[in-house]
Amino acid sequence: MSAEYLPGIDEDQLEAKYGLPQKVVYCKKCVMSNQRPATRPEFTKKSANDIEASSFGEDGICDACKYNEYKKTIDWDDRRRQLEELCDKFRRNDGRYDVIVPGSGGKDSIFVSHMLEHEFGMNPLTVTWAPHAYTEIGRQNMEAWQRTGVDNVVFTPDPVVHAKLTRLAFLNLVNPFQPFILGQKILAARFALMYNIPFIMYGENQAESHNSLDTIQSSLMDPIHFSAEKADMELYFGGVEANDLQQYGITRKDLNPYYPPLREDIEKAGIEFHFMSHFVHWSPQQNYYYVKECSDFESNPEGRSEGTYTKYASLDDKIDGQHYYTMLAKFGQGRAMNDAIRDIRDGYITREEGVNLVNLYDEEFPKNHFQFFLDYIGITEEEYWKVIDNARSPHLWMKTNEGWKLRHPCK
Ligand SMILES: [Zn+2]
Repeated sequence: MSAEYLPGIDEDQLEAKYGLPQKVVYCKKCVMSNQRPATRPEFTKKSANDIEASSFGEDGICDACKYNEYKKTIDWDDRRRQLEELCDKFRRNDGRYDVIVPGSGGKDSIFVSHMLEHEFGMNPLTVTWAPHAYTEIGRQNMEAWQRTGVDNVVFTPDPVVHAKLTRLAFLNLVNPFQPFILGQKILAARFALMYNIPFIMYGENQAESHNSLDTIQSSLMDPIHFSAEKADMELYFGGVEANDLQQYGITRKDLNPYYPPLREDIEKAGIEFHFMSHFVHWSPQQNYYYVKECSDFESNPEGRSEGTYTKYASLDDKIDGQHYYTMLAKFGQGRAMNDAIRDIRDGYITREEGVNLVNLYDEEFPKNHFQFFLDYIGITEEEYWKVIDNARSPHLWMKTNEGWKLRHPCK
């Protein structure tokens, strides 16, 4: 093992990968560290090494907590009226669909489509980019979603191509979800064009839980940043330029589901993109309670999900656990932290409880579907750990006699 991972080394000398800040700081209000990348330009660049770290105030409070304070001043009745007006603009009374709700069948998808249908009189078409492989509970919840009374289209990309891309994304970017996320992001726009439904309602604007107000506003103004400026837009799939994928047996036509629609087509069709979290107070816990009332949605039958203390989020895909575990290796932030920062801000747990939960669960390995994941992307366990260990930034990780440890555990 190289010396850079030894404990007790002069920390200023240690490499900080991915452009992460050298000094690890935890937010004084929640438990988010400053090691979270604000942007992930992995779709248009070859490497993941050019990430702009999220900004963290001099006061030791993260931007997302500041945004959370700002959220408390929002007049939600007014926002609801705005949503009503928006729905009035797009509502169709001739039986056609009038809004697209993309989702996986998790609690957030049910929350959004149910609310639009039952509180705003809309006729949603729900669309789903299929998971890599459904878990049993994921399939049941998908059906529970449909039974709330919505039509649903599942788009399943060619599983051979998708597995190859996922493999490349794991090996090159240590982000096995990159192809999935790209496909899922553009799916709604594709269906909006196909079915002539110019209104898309997403659930949460992810930027809200990690970024500053500026970033959030720009993401609201430009939610079609995944649409292509021109047809031959250079995209990197699994960290490989499209033209270079031929060596892996992947041709341009195989990539069709992953290419964003053209911006001019989206503009011509007058498609609008919105986030439900802009219009209603958004809280994962609250959504869970809402959904338990209106559907047969079930939480994780095992009590809590691996790597965290919660039982109701990211349940549908067998490789969900790997999404969080690779984040942990790269940025020292795992699944429990991802849950705790929201629950602290929403007042469900205290910061102290959050710290304990993160230290208890964040590094727990997702072993349930591990063998499935290895088989799915066609690597050995040894190869897997080589990729994970190479992804660890020396300024975050040290190797002790008891194995890998974070140099700066959450406190
Ligand atoms: Zn914070």
